[in-house]
Amino acid sequence: MMILEAKSVSYYYKSNKEALILDDVNYGFDCGKMYAILGPSGAGKTTLLSLLAGLDVPVKGQILYDGKPLTSKGLTTHRKYHSSLVFQNYNLIDYLTPIENVKLGGKGNPETLLGTIGIGKEFWKRNVLQLSGGQQQRVAIARALASEAKLLLVDEPTGNLDDATAWDVIDLLKRIAHEENKCVIVVTHNKELAKEADAVIRMETHT
Ligand code: ADP
Ligand code: ADP
Repeated sequence: MMILEAKSVSYYYKSNKEALILDDVNYGFDCGKMYAILGPSGAGKTTLLSLLAGLDVPVKGQILYDGKPLTSKGLTTHRKYHSSLVFQNYNLIDYLTPIENVKLGGKGNPETLLGTIGIGKEFWKRNVLQLSGGQQQRVAIARALASEAKLLLVDEPTGNLDDATAWDVIDLLKRIAHEENKCVIVVTHNKELAKEADAVIRMETHT
């Protein structure tokens, strides 16, 4: 069974009801796979991701987790235990070290997680701002992994990274999907990187 589904989902922002951002869309997501949500800026990728993460609710239609529709009561549980979201700007706590940031994610051993994502020991106790963009992105992913949630939702993980580092991050996310049986959903506007995904969802600008 699909772990996450969007069923007949429509969405507009309350501040601009004229602009239908999502128009009756249907998507399904499995564990053990990496999905890319691909499309130009303004297509609604971030909007879809925030609905899947339970940060907001569809105007019409439903988001289902493990076959059950998310109700407004269930949103907190969904955000806390089912999904972990990696923001575009990393949202790391800038006066803390990588170890301390990953600890904030919840369970798991920060050292193991930082090892998994390939951050060398010598960086673990530095201030995160002394790390490169690629390293900060990976620390943010490690923090999301600490939650043990099935869903790993990642917004433009490679936007600020050079090509080689972007490939490393995408390969890392794919490995996490396959080896840890997570459902990884990555928003990107990079067609080449999207080809690495097990499935691609294409979104077009329609406003
Ligand atoms: P991206 O395309 O990289 O997802 P955007 O530039 O579309 O980022 O949006 C950046 C932030 O501004 C997001 O938090 C988004 O919700 C907000 N935003 C974008 N467009 C509008 C808008 N028309 N009115 C209010 N907030 C907006
Ligand atoms: P993408 O992530 O594909 O760049 P977004 O989901 O950020 O697209 O935005 C889709 C559309 O919704 C854009 O036209 C954007 O301007 C609009 N939008 C985004 N956030 C808001 C917001 N908070 N209020 C009003 N409009 C928004």
